[in-house]
Amino acid sequence: MASAFIDKARISVRAGNGGNGAVSFHREKYVAAGGPDGGDGGRGGSIILQVDDNMSTLMDFRYKRKYVAGNGADGQGKRKFGKDGASLVIKVPRGTLVRDAETNEIIQDMSGSEPYVLCRGGRGGWGNSHFATPTRQVPRFAKAGLPGESHEVVLELKLLADVGLIGFPNVGKSTLLSVVSKAQPKIANYHFTTLFPNLGVVWVDEGVSFVMADIPGIIEGASEGAGLGHDFLRHIDRCRLLVHLVDVSGSEARDPVADFDAINAELAQYSPALAERPQIVAANKTDILENPENLERLRAHVEALGYPLMEMSAAAHQGTWQLVQQIAERLSALPPVRVFEAEYVPKPPAPGDASSLEIQHEEGVWLIEGPWIQRLMANVNFSDYESRMWFDKVLREAGVFQRLETLGIADGDTVSLDGFEFEYQR
Ligand code: GDP
Ligand code: MG
Repeated sequence: MASAFIDKARISVRAGNGGNGAVSFHREKYVAAGGPDGGDGGRGGSIILQVDDNMSTLMDFRYKRKYVAGNGADGQGKRKFGKDGASLVIKVPRGTLVRDAETNEIIQDMSGSEPYVLCRGGRGGWGNSHFATPTRQVPRFAKAGLPGESHEVVLELKLLADVGLIGFPNVGKSTLLSVVSKAQPKIANYHFTTLFPNLGVVWVDEGVSFVMADIPGIIEGASEGAGLGHDFLRHIDRCRLLVHLVDVSGSEARDPVADFDAINAELAQYSPALAERPQIVAANKTDILENPENLERLRAHVEALGYPLMEMSAAAHQGTWQLVQQIAERLSALPPVRVFEAEYVPKPPAPGDASSLEIQHEEGVWLIEGPWIQRLMANVNFSDYESRMWFDKVLREAGVFQRLETLGIADGDTVSLDGFEFEYQR
């Protein structure tokens, strides 16, 4: 049953590869040797994440786990550029955390509405028309496109709500949400009717509103893995305020004081920070209150602990407006909903060995290609001396210069690395 709600999913994503540059020469009748006219390869499509407020679960990711953007097309003669690959937009519910699957570090918190580029498409390779110089008129080389970035990530839904409703099953949480907002959660007189968290916007006044979340009932032992509660507790992690509903009617022969303590003990066991979150206690079902002493005992207990207590009947719409106003007032003094900082920092690639590089030699120009060297260069700031020295050291240690020597490079030759050219000096 609990698996009906998918709030965690592992997916693999890959941006498109860049297209290759073309080697081509202009041909015309009666013209002996035309100039190079090979066009550039197109850029690979990116993987882009975008919040979609019509989504409330990660269900879609259960059936589709691989996402690949389009490759860039190869360049062609007559300086024709290859077409860029199509980017792939992946929609996620608001509040989705994107984590690196290996380290679990947060890559991005999809709380805002800005699209996020998770993987960049590879750049297209230059066609040979780029390599013509007065002294190098027949460049017979072009560059390969760069591979697109790829990543294994875990999506984790952490709802974005100001207020979280907590309390035992059947105390009236869904009823309250349906009364104060336009949300239409399932309401029924049996336990665990809420299997999906529901969000509702509560309008208070012009310019004043908040988001309320109704999460599946917490039950005793939930923080030890019993029942449904545990998984759902993370959905109130971000809530600024908790509204703790207690059934004081006695209709289910429950003791409101014991219920209140049990839920708070659950919270504390799951997360001490959550247990300290401000709470407003709402004593519900006063319309069928069998024993007023129940209500007074709860009030004394709760107020002694420093929480305010509101009486209400969600079903009869009594006291619900007062509760809404009280919530809005408390929220105005609380910090905004927590947005998680990114923790993940992409690491520069480990240098591969020189033998994996492709080296082309043409008229004193040495063109070096290979995925690791291109990714490495993306991490080097060439205007900084230290960085250039580091880059030089990495190339040396990987055996790049040694291989060039073996192939016969001479002092003064040009080394061309991904659009970066320098003169070779021993
Ligand atoms: P939840 O499990 O906490 O979401 O509880 P629900 O909102 O689904 O309500 C459980 C049952 O209690 C339903 O039959 C509701 O109609 C009923 N209920 C909720 N609030 C009140 C109330 O204020 N008075 C009475 N008499 N019944 C209520
Ligand atoms: Mg419910």
